[in-house]
Amino acid sequence: MTKYPHLIDGVEVSGKSQKSQPIINPSTEQILGYVPLANQEDVNQAVRAALDAFPLWADTPPAVRAKILFKWRQLIDDHLDELAHLISSEHGKSKVEAVGSIQRGADVLEFACGIPSALKGEFSSNVGRQVDSYSIRQPVGVVATITPFNFPAMIPLWIGSVAIACGNTIVLKPSERTPSAALFLAKLALKAGLPKGVLNILHGAKDAVNGLLTHPNVAAVSFVGQTSTAKYVQETAIAHGKRVQAFGGAKNHALVMPDADMDSTVDAILGAAYGSAGERCMAISVAVAVGDKTADTLIEKLSPKIKALKIDAPTNADAEMGPLITKEHHAKVHAFIDTGIKEGAALLIDGRDLCVGKTGYFLGGCLFDHVKTDMEIYQNEIFGPVLCIVRVQSYEEGLNLINNHAYANGVAIFTRDGDSARDFCHRIQVGMVGVNVPIPVPVGFHSFGGWKDSVFADHGMHGMEGVRFFTKLKTITSRWPSGIRQGVEFSLPTVE
Ligand code: NAD
Repeated sequence: MTKYPHLIDGVEVSGKSQKSQPIINPSTEQILGYVPLANQEDVNQAVRAALDAFPLWADTPPAVRAKILFKWRQLIDDHLDELAHLISSEHGKSKVEAVGSIQRGADVLEFACGIPSALKGEFSSNVGRQVDSYSIRQPVGVVATITPFNFPAMIPLWIGSVAIACGNTIVLKPSERTPSAALFLAKLALKAGLPKGVLNILHGAKDAVNGLLTHPNVAAVSFVGQTSTAKYVQETAIAHGKRVQAFGGAKNHALVMPDADMDSTVDAILGAAYGSAGERCMAISVAVAVGDKTADTLIEKLSPKIKALKIDAPTNADAEMGPLITKEHHAKVHAFIDTGIKEGAALLIDGRDLCVGKTGYFLGGCLFDHVKTDMEIYQNEIFGPVLCIVRVQSYEEGLNLINNHAYANGVAIFTRDGDSARDFCHRIQVGMVGVNVPIPVPVGFHSFGGWKDSVFADHGMHGMEGVRFFTKLKTITSRWPSGIRQGVEFSLPTVE
């Protein structure tokens, strides 16, 4: 059975650790191979490779780095189907979702290709007599990148392409549940001409993460995963003196106003709640309906479409939704559904009895009505195909309810009224806001990031926020006195 290699210093290696774990196809339950779980020795080897590669790469002109990134972008396009297949077989995503997620990752790589312009500094001439001042951005060093299972190519590209473009070198630890896409991408990067050691792939779980978080030669950590892990990563990285950004979980609301175009709202919510089996950090998991009539219409139009969802393995090209990632996660989502029933929510559509074949962690679309804010199914991220409907009687009540939730990644309002939409955009306490757009994931040249318990970071991902996180600002003040002597100054220089 295949044992997946690490990729360190441009070479595939099996690592020193004897520990490994099976990668299971969630549709067939077949073991696809074994992923090694790195130990401290493996971590040290990967960080060493990144550290050795850093000086030359940091000194490589940004335009030269960009040329390599352009080639990498092209190779990803050339290998789109293979990459999508890897993602679908390990994650269970439908092919169309896998392809879409690669393309959203490649969007950020395209932004990174423009790095010479993004790294342009500022220059002020004559800030004092014969004194000029300018600022430049320089790479931070070795970056540890730790990514989640649900976007095995997109998130490594969102973080990795910007970090590399800025002149850093990376140790990327992909999710141990979906490790192949990152390895595949790194091999394409090598083929595109990325020097060895600039992008290293280290497989593993908690031990590998701890090894990276505490390693003295890791300068910065960029993490994406559950909120509990994100908090831990942030605290540990800070305790070890590192720059860190950690993106966590979510509970994304859609506020449906009585004047919304209900047919397009229903289509938007259907895709956002059940696409990728609800395993997206920007999935809509709560629909807040303003008025009982709005809630009733939403349910009436949504229900037949949920029941008609085409749920199957990604090998079926027509599949709209695949299985959940693991048996354990499947059981966890089931348990949330049981809890919701016990808490008194009305389970209008029960996907638990769905039978696709003899195998796989499939779960049908579920719909809860009359969900209350003190229920566990409302407060927690379920990360499955479960949509909760909460009924409110006014716009103001809906706005306050959303603002009181601990998570604040994404949100959307569905309305035809410009006043409500504008007010919502200004007063909502959430990082990414959609107006009649269900999944407002910013494009590559803007930046991604939630608020509150969805993020533990001062800078967002990609766009200029990514550039700021992956670079240090240096400001240089220089005097070329052209023969004029200033004399001794004992006071702090001022502009006279
Ligand atoms: P996870 O937190 O279980 O794992 C993420 C990474 O952390 C993996 O590489 C894993 O190996 C590592 N890890 C897991 N437990 C650890 C521990 N105790 N100590 C150290 N490292 C640990 O997350 P997941 O289940 O892979 O991904 C799903 C979660 O990610 C969801 O909560 C989702 O909302 C979130 N997510 C957030 C964003 C965002 O941008 N905010 C994007 C995608 C996913």
